[in-house]
Amino acid sequence: MLKVSCIHAFYGNIQVLKNIDLQVEEGSIVTILGANGAGKTTTMKTVAGLLKPQQGKIEFLGEDVTGLRPDQLLRKGIALVPEGRQILAGMTVMENLEMGAYHRKDNEIGQDLEKVLERFPILKEREKQLGGTLSGGQQQMLAIARAILSRPKLLLLDEPSMGLAPLIVADIFKIIKEINETGTTVLLVEQNARQALKISDYGYVLEIGKIVADGKAQDLLNDPRIMEAYLGRK
Ligand code: ATP
Repeated sequence: MLKVSCIHAFYGNIQVLKNIDLQVEEGSIVTILGANGAGKTTTMKTVAGLLKPQQGKIEFLGEDVTGLRPDQLLRKGIALVPEGRQILAGMTVMENLEMGAYHRKDNEIGQDLEKVLERFPILKEREKQLGGTLSGGQQQMLAIARAILSRPKLLLLDEPSMGLAPLIVADIFKIIKEINETGTTVLLVEQNARQALKISDYGYVLEIGKIVADGKAQDLLNDPRIMEAYLGRK
């Protein structure tokens, strides 16, 4: 579904991604692991169109989408839930959700809103509350729910568990798995390596801008070198 080939990306003169190759099969969950500063967020920004790669190619559903803007990619079915969630604090939960569907022209938005509120009852309870008054976990759910309302084929999630209490983290991973089971392909960036791999099919390990290992999620979980370097945290 997604094929990233030989991507080189820079911030000014600093090269942050060096020859990144990765693939995401339709229907799967793929995780990118790596230490702080390895280039995980930069990889997501490049796939989402927020950063143009200097070299390389990004293909989505067989089409070359390299260099397209985020709104163009969203229309093609790639939605990003950015690091730090970035919900609109001064708008209500419902207004935030409606923003997720702003580019849609079909007449099933109301129906999708209802489905999303069923899946996230806490958002239904708080639909009139301002986004900024929600807890961290609730804001993450809102950010994910908003992205789902764009009806993505590929959902990009950058550190969805960041800063959340362990019980909430477990909820978030469960929700990601459920979203995948309803037909959405997921590319995930996570520090919480073990939990992320447990719900994933495949994983890539990024180190200072390069892919240094990749494999089936189960194999990465069973690889002592990977375990030691990246899976230390429970
Ligand atoms: P984290 O988990 O801390 O978000 P990451 O793996 O996602 O780490 P990136 O955010 O992609 O890493 O950053 C990769 C490198 O690029 C780091 O060395 C970082 O300092 C640098 N970097 C990130 N954003 C910028 C920017 N806007 N301008 C210049 N350098 C940047």
